[in-house]
Amino acid sequence: MDKAKRKAIIAGNWKMNKTPSEATALLNEITPLVKDADCEVIACVPYVDIAAAVEAAKGTNVKIGAENCHWAESGAFTGEISTGMLKEIGVEYVVLGHSERRQYFGETDETVNKRTKAALAAGLKPIVCVGELLWERECDITEEVIARQIKLDLWDVTEDELKNVVIAYEPVWAIGTGKTATSDQAEEVCAFIRAQLAKLYNQAAADAVTIQYGGSMNDGNADELLSKTNVDGGLIGGASLVAEKFAAIVKAASK
Ligand code: PEP
Repeated sequence: MDKAKRKAIIAGNWKMNKTPSEATALLNEITPLVKDADCEVIACVPYVDIAAAVEAAKGTNVKIGAENCHWAESGAFTGEISTGMLKEIGVEYVVLGHSERRQYFGETDETVNKRTKAALAAGLKPIVCVGELLWERECDITEEVIARQIKLDLWDVTEDELKNVVIAYEPVWAIGTGKTATSDQAEEVCAFIRAQLAKLYNQAAADAVTIQYGGSMNDGNADELLSKTNVDGGLIGGASLVAEKFAAIVKAASK
């Protein structure tokens, strides 16, 4: 499938930044700047900001996402948030398996898979993050790591469900470090991810999946990264907290 036929998606990952009132203020800055975007624009925000963000984004082209969800519908999981809670409050997308969750909160491919299945069952669109550590790249096992993550994280996800899955390739060494993968490195792994999806499903299903790059993407490098055939969008951390920078990335994806 021609890249132009895939949905380009720019998603901000606000991480643990912004209070509800600050979220409203930032979205009030962002929404007018991205109103003519020719791509999907999402802000994934902390749980407590979601209500304010949904309100601020009402009537605009900006969709609101969450940064995680639990796999159970309800129950004794103190501190967790269910997919039903997110759906009811107006969330459409959810980031899953972010490397910070894997690194600091014990997230594994098994739990990413459970969360992904639960999100899909609830009608949420998961943005499933995969990526290698610097050590793994240096040991030349990037493809093994990515193949394993793709296979395990999407285990038991049907071809029909895959239509609602977004994959974010985020080399861990490039997240929040200011070190961006070169556009060739990003393209190489995004193309590899698509090839893995083709193996697990089929070429047509793989061709339809939006694959984002994430890792220090900013207003200065977005054009080059997004020009690559298999880079369909971006998951943006730091730069998503500055309205003008985020809007510039959205503009780059809209070309
Ligand atoms: C992220 O958190 O997903 C991310 C890519 O962060 P940054 O853009 O700050 O590297």
